Amino acid sequence: KLLPRIALVTGGNRGIGLEIARQLSLKGIRVLIGCRDADKGTFAVDQLSKDGVTVELEVVDVSCRDSIDELMKRVKTKYGRLDVLVNNAGVILDRGISVLDVKEPVMKETLETNYFGVLNLIQAAVPLMKEHHYGRIVNVSSGVGSFQVHQGLLGLKGKSSAYRISKTMVNALTCLVAHEVADMGIKVNAACPGSVRTDMGGSDAPLSAAEGADTAVWLATLDENGPTGGFFRNRMTAEW
Ligand code: NDP
Repeated sequence: KLLPRIALVTGGNRGIGLEIARQLSLKGIRVLIGCRDADKGTFAVDQLSKDGVTVELEVVDVSCRDSIDELMKRVKTKYGRLDVLVNNAGVILDRGISVLDVKEPVMKETLETNYFGVLNLIQAAVPLMKEHHYGRIVNVSSGVGSFQVHQGLLGLKGKSSAYRISKTMVNALTCLVAHEVADMGIKVNAACPGSVRTDMGGSDAPLSAAEGADTAVWLATLDENGPTGGFFRNRMTAEW
């Protein structure tokens, strides 16, 4: 009687988010794609529909708390519940810029989307999930948020500090929230998709968007014995 479950995937109009939405829908979950641009969202809904996959569009700008609150009000009214939240939307704005040169507005804009967006969506979603004592929250993070990487791994010196710090914060948030909601039937995990061919990942990346979506989809559909508070890549615990 509780099924189908309702899932919200932010940044679902392209890249990894679109593939997460597709795979969740194919598992029989009713999927809402959270997109900041209604036209792009409609295009994505139509694109999936041509493949026989049904998703619904909800407009939301994750960098805006009011927009998130309005979205959650609509979700409650229209669907009555929210079971799965995939925080996938993200930006990288400081690719070639050193931490010594990054401008505060760039750092702030990055954190508004990649960190505060995740925090605000979680704060808005938990009350709905708590009602049914069921929730799966997946934060799409990145291996470049790891402390080992900050200390020199991967040759990222002089590059994308705002983005990398935002993902470190997402991983820390994942641990804290998981602990807070453990007795509410809610699991919270972070996923690194790997290096994926999208607008963000570039055309030379080794993984397809469908492959990049896999770990997030797995975490979004964990059964009650599944992990919480972890960081995963290729469905395996990863260091950060
Ligand atoms: P893309 O750049 O292809 O897509 C990003 C998505 O996020 C778009 O749908 C974009 O919407 C949306 N978005 C950005 N800002 C907002 C906002 N304020 N409100 C709502 N939606 C927003 O990226 P990917 O698909 O590659 O990345 C998805 C996630 O995976 C990100 O969190 C990224 O950091 C992470 N990741 C990606 C890797 C890769 O190799 N590609 C590696 C590691 C992590 P719009 O179309 O309107 O711009």
